[in-house]
Amino acid sequence: MKLSRYYIPTLKEAPSEAEVVSHKLLIRAGMIRKLTSGIYNYLPLGLRSVNKVANIVRREMDRAGALEVLMPSVQPADLWQETGRWDYYGKELLRFNDRHGRDYCLGPTHEEVITDLVRGEVRSYKQLPLNLYQVQTKFRDEIRPRFGLMRGREFIMKDAYSFDRDEAGAEESYWIMFEAYKKAFARIGLRFKPVQADSGAIGGDFSHEFMVLADTGEDTIASCSACDFAANLEKAKVVESGEVCEDACAELEEVATPDKHTVEEVCEFLGVDPAALVKTLLFVVDGEPVAALVRGDREINDAKLRNLLGGNEIDMADEAMVRELTGAPVGFAGPHGLKKGVRIVADNELRYATDWIAGGNKADTHVRHLSLSRDCEVEQYADLRVITESDPCPECGAAIEFTKGIEVGHVFKLGTKYSEKMGATFLDENGKDQTMIMGCYGIGISRIVASAIEQNHDENGCIFPPSIAPFEVCLISLGGKDEAVNEKALELYEAVQDMDVDICYDDRKERPGVKFADADLIGYPMQLVLGGKGLKNGIVEAKDRKSGERIELPLDGFAEAFA
Ligand code: ATP
Ligand code: MG
Ligand code: MG
Ligand code: MG
Repeated sequence: MKLSRYYIPTLKEAPSEAEVVSHKLLIRAGMIRKLTSGIYNYLPLGLRSVNKVANIVRREMDRAGALEVLMPSVQPADLWQETGRWDYYGKELLRFNDRHGRDYCLGPTHEEVITDLVRGEVRSYKQLPLNLYQVQTKFRDEIRPRFGLMRGREFIMKDAYSFDRDEAGAEESYWIMFEAYKKAFARIGLRFKPVQADSGAIGGDFSHEFMVLADTGEDTIASCSACDFAANLEKAKVVESGEVCEDACAELEEVATPDKHTVEEVCEFLGVDPAALVKTLLFVVDGEPVAALVRGDREINDAKLRNLLGGNEIDMADEAMVRELTGAPVGFAGPHGLKKGVRIVADNELRYATDWIAGGNKADTHVRHLSLSRDCEVEQYADLRVITESDPCPECGAAIEFTKGIEVGHVFKLGTKYSEKMGATFLDENGKDQTMIMGCYGIGISRIVASAIEQNHDENGCIFPPSIAPFEVCLISLGGKDEAVNEKALELYEAVQDMDVDICYDDRKERPGVKFADADLIGYPMQLVLGGKGLKNGIVEAKDRKSGERIELPLDGFAEAFA
């Protein structure tokens, strides 16, 4: 590709709304442009990287035996009503009507559509197992679209769905995908970690997320320094501001235990083993810990709570009584909820309680300044996070470390959650109707491009891993009007293309400084630089973008030296 005929609108400055480095650089490097909030155009360079990610993922899916299909992005409401998710999914689901007034949504995920497809096609055990995937545009009306491609409203996802005859088969399908994900992320060149995860709105039996390790990640990974335990402190929704909960927070502060400033202190106060730290949530309002949620045994916890509330007898299952005692100004989403002070929840209540605190599906309830923090360092507008119900603490009891991660992939064992509701059955060997066991597997294709930049950049720009760089090599001619240099450069350009290397040729009539700055900004892994002096001495300079190292390659016998 000759850059004189290419379109790369690089910019000196990023728009002020761009907070994280990948967002800034994707815009400055001329790879994406915003259409509207959370919705982007992919320009030629950006699309090349996106396609490279998608193709690596496709290859690993194909190798793992998954078959590519393409499903519609417009989905009829009746399918979502069948599974109950039409009501459950909340405002992230963009809904609309056709001219006949029928309800539709833009697909945020495709469990309903794929289950509908498969139930209509697959009749016999002989057709299973089956794994179908697609690379497709998803729409989620994210409450806070931000960070460019990292959290868009429209984004590109690879989603795969497996159908099996029995549990054993479903587990096998799950681990095949798990391994394929590891291969794909390794081939892309990401530093990543699989972690135990919450299955969230997708639901199901168990799941893992694949986290790209980066400080700007929105997820927090709790991992053990000694064993291989790693889990996501799954976040709940965060809303920017609101009156309702500010009142609630004021209430909370009154009965909070402000003298307990660390999770350890709260644990001690509650008589909870600090080794269960990752199961403890501390809510911080304006620098003060105002409430803690601790997982554990209901009975013991309720006794502790009574203690906390001044010895009052209280049945936590009795919402009215809790309200009366605590004078809570807002309702709660869960069966047993926190009102104020320290509320201790049993495992299966944790999600409800955190949902309540974060507003849950009640979009009008707002929460401010909530943070889980090991040592109460307040992160403004920090996410509320919760460890999932199924996570063990690490068995070994060693210290937990918290690191930031970006979720680039997620595998779920769904079980029969969808197939049962939608009647996706098959006839087994004995001619008996059986329900298919499902799994689903997502990869954030467009998010990966942003994550790769978060992990690989410096003050001059992106440093793309070769596998997903828009071009692997950029040849820069410093010839200007010197036709001999330009001719030689063109020769090199052809030679490199013959070697099947993805190269672009900066033949623009720009100053060398502009070409170097652009090449650094875009982050081609290698720059080849040919000037008048080099031509005279018979050398072309090769610069490694990552290390900055420069070596000279002979023009004579270039192909061998370059290889
Ligand atoms: P998150 O926790 O970041 O909101 P999610 O858990 O809701 O993501 P999944 O339903 O697991 O997302 O979807 C599969 C993958 O799609 C995610 O692992 C992520 O890489 C990607 N993805 C999800 N939401 C977005 C988004 N808003 N923008 C870009 N990629 C996304
Ligand atoms: Mg999400
Ligand atoms: Mg998630
Ligand atoms: Mg997920």
